[in-house]
Amino acid sequence: MIRAYHQPQRLDDALALLQQGGQAIAGATGLYSNRKKLDAELVDITGIGLSTIDVTVDAIRLGATVSLSQLIGAQLPGSEGAFLAHVARHITAAPMRNAITLGGNIAHPVFWADMPVAFLALDAELEIGHAGAAPKKIALGEAIKGQVPWSNGGLITHISVPLKKGQALGYERLSRTKNDYAYATAAAAMTLESGKAKDVRVVFGAIQPRAFRATDIEAVLEGKALTPELIAEAVDKAAAHLPIAPNFRASVDYRRQVACTLARRAIAQAFASAGQE
Ligand SMILES: Cc1cc2nc3c(=O)[nH]c(=O)nc-3n(C[C@H](O)[C@H](O)[C@H](O)COP(=O)(O)OP(=O)(O)OC[C@H]3O[C@@H](n4cnc5c(N)ncnc54)[C@H](O)[C@@H]3O)c2cc1C
Repeated sequence: MIRAYHQPQRLDDALALLQQGGQAIAGATGLYSNRKKLDAELVDITGIGLSTIDVTVDAIRLGATVSLSQLIGAQLPGSEGAFLAHVARHITAAPMRNAITLGGNIAHPVFWADMPVAFLALDAELEIGHAGAAPKKIALGEAIKGQVPWSNGGLITHISVPLKKGQALGYERLSRTKNDYAYATAAAAMTLESGKAKDVRVVFGAIQPRAFRATDIEAVLEGKALTPELIAEAVDKAAAHLPIAPNFRASVDYRRQVACTLARRAIAQAFASAGQE
């Protein structure tokens, strides 16, 4: 049973309520079915000024309550802006995208969350607020290892995506139907220098509760001119060790094959578009 529903208008007030044990609620699409979490004082964070999008020459800074629809409609700059819109557009259906927030998509620890995969490929940084403390910045990749920094009364307030000149990106997901949760997802990011892939990032999603980087694949590809054979070799080498947590949607073996195919495609897609710069 919901014990109270707070609608603070200021970030500080929301953080104070969260520190007293309140449960943050944003789009409510993940929380609505979680009876345990709903047995709390809910703190609606949609009115505290976190639905802003700021663009500078170096970065896109997104407020945590920016919805997927808002993100898609924002026409953000760079390959990064187009990539974020592309990923968001393929998440579930339009009414859901109107509600789902970026902060909620990162915080809610479900296999199928798409935006953390994209943000990890983009090397995004989170800003975390706690009552009475200065905001802290932490790379998303660090934040989702172990205990998350928004537990114990914390809140993701912003997500910053660096804009990197010439960055090329690829994203692939497979689901049973267009609106369904993914069996697996894969993203790739890189730049091109003298025909060779630089700063390669390869990310898997939907095969573990949290998205993760495949550093072994990245290491094989870094500094090389990518060919389909080399991409296949890098992914195939990592395939046997790829940690696939079982779930009810499909077998581990099937999802391993899907994840590897998607990774090959995402890497090839990024490399091909890097060549067009
Ligand atoms: C039928 C269905 C299909 C879906 N399919 C997909 C899909 O394919 N891909 C995909 O990516 N998503 C999908 N989603 C959305 C996903 O599962 C979550 O429901 C959603 O990401 C949660 O976002 P929200 O804003 O609604 O968060 P809420 O439901 O409001 O909150 C979820 C959790 O996150 C916490 N939280 C929210 N905001 C913050 C913050 N700023 N800082 C810290 N903690 C916070 C809350 O306290 C709560 O614990 C689907 C949802 C549904 C219902």
